[in-house]
Amino acid sequence: MISKVYFGTARQALLEAKETLPAKLDLILEQLHLRERVKDARVVIKMHTANNIGYSTIHPVFVRKVVQAIKDGGGKPFVADVPWDTAGAETRGYSAESLGCPVYPAAGPDEKYYYEHKRPYKNIQSWRVAGLIQDADFLVNFAHVKGHPSNGFGAAIKNLALGCMTGETRSQMHDSMHFDQYWFPAACPDPASAIPQIAAACPFEAVVEDKRVPGTMHLHMEQCNQCGRCLKVAPSGSLKIDPVNFHSFMEACAISVSETMSTFQPGKAIHLNLATQITPVCDCFGFTGMSILPDVGIFGSDDIVAVEQATLDALAQSSLIEENIPLAMEVHFHQGHPFRQLHGPLKDPYLTTEYAEKYGLGSREYELVDVFPLKKMERSALPYTSAN
Ligand code: SF4
Repeated sequence: MISKVYFGTARQALLEAKETLPAKLDLILEQLHLRERVKDARVVIKMHTANNIGYSTIHPVFVRKVVQAIKDGGGKPFVADVPWDTAGAETRGYSAESLGCPVYPAAGPDEKYYYEHKRPYKNIQSWRVAGLIQDADFLVNFAHVKGHPSNGFGAAIKNLALGCMTGETRSQMHDSMHFDQYWFPAACPDPASAIPQIAAACPFEAVVEDKRVPGTMHLHMEQCNQCGRCLKVAPSGSLKIDPVNFHSFMEACAISVSETMSTFQPGKAIHLNLATQITPVCDCFGFTGMSILPDVGIFGSDDIVAVEQATLDALAQSSLIEENIPLAMEVHFHQGHPFRQLHGPLKDPYLTTEYAEKYGLGSREYELVDVFPLKKMERSALPYTSAN
């Protein structure tokens, strides 16, 4: 199946408002027939409201456009996110006054309002879907595109995978990276001296001794870019930097999204990716870094897999802006997608869409429809004349 993905480029030909992204978002919402699909529906707009002093999530101007379209169609919109992000969201510009609809913690202020979905996967037995998400009739999944330390990038899939679950499930999803064994103590006869040496070899403080089990090593997968320095000093066979650990989180994200999407009737969701101010790590960090890729634009589709694939493909046409990467990070690998180069070869962002397709969430095949193609500028045919 080939899914349609509507796209508005961040570029403009003319200096006119209609050529800028909020206006193109309106065109995308028209193409997706949002107004015609939400009459009398409780519509949840799932977005990341960021925290602390992060300012690069979706600007309220865009959210207000979506809210207005839902109201025009007779729907009842509200914004939902995890509680420590909605608490104080108004300090980052997300309030009922600015957005035109309320902002709620998706599972209540203490995350006690949820539905349990039993589905064993590695260390996870059940998935706690936030109550307000499951209760909604229609979903607008509105994601900001950026890098992510666990699966290379975060956009529509991650916005639902983490943001629609309670904290307990979110923690278990991160812990799934530790389910498969990567430290083999039998191959390390002297852990008291070996573990500090291995830890010292990692410039990113990704290796630590496990405080709960002395003599055992713990790998912070989020901080690991798979450079391999630790393997050079670890006793042979004691440590693995293995794809299975990194890929578990991506697979868990796909399962999580399939549980959330199972609570919506077919045709009752749209997915939007805003690819601007693309920072190296996710908006949970509570700050905004410099852009590590140029702004690309906005994408919208009924198909969450297609919208992710189209977004990744568009970003792949640019190169990392290496001078904007924080000095604490390192690009040691120069193949494949820019996010893979930034976060390491085992955090290939395309794997997220592969898992999502495997779990029946949509299609990686898509047709890209530009809602406002750039006009070719006609220049004078006269020979070059100096402006001076
Ligand atoms: S592979 Fe590199 S980044 Fe990862 S733990 Fe080892 S030294 Fe640290």
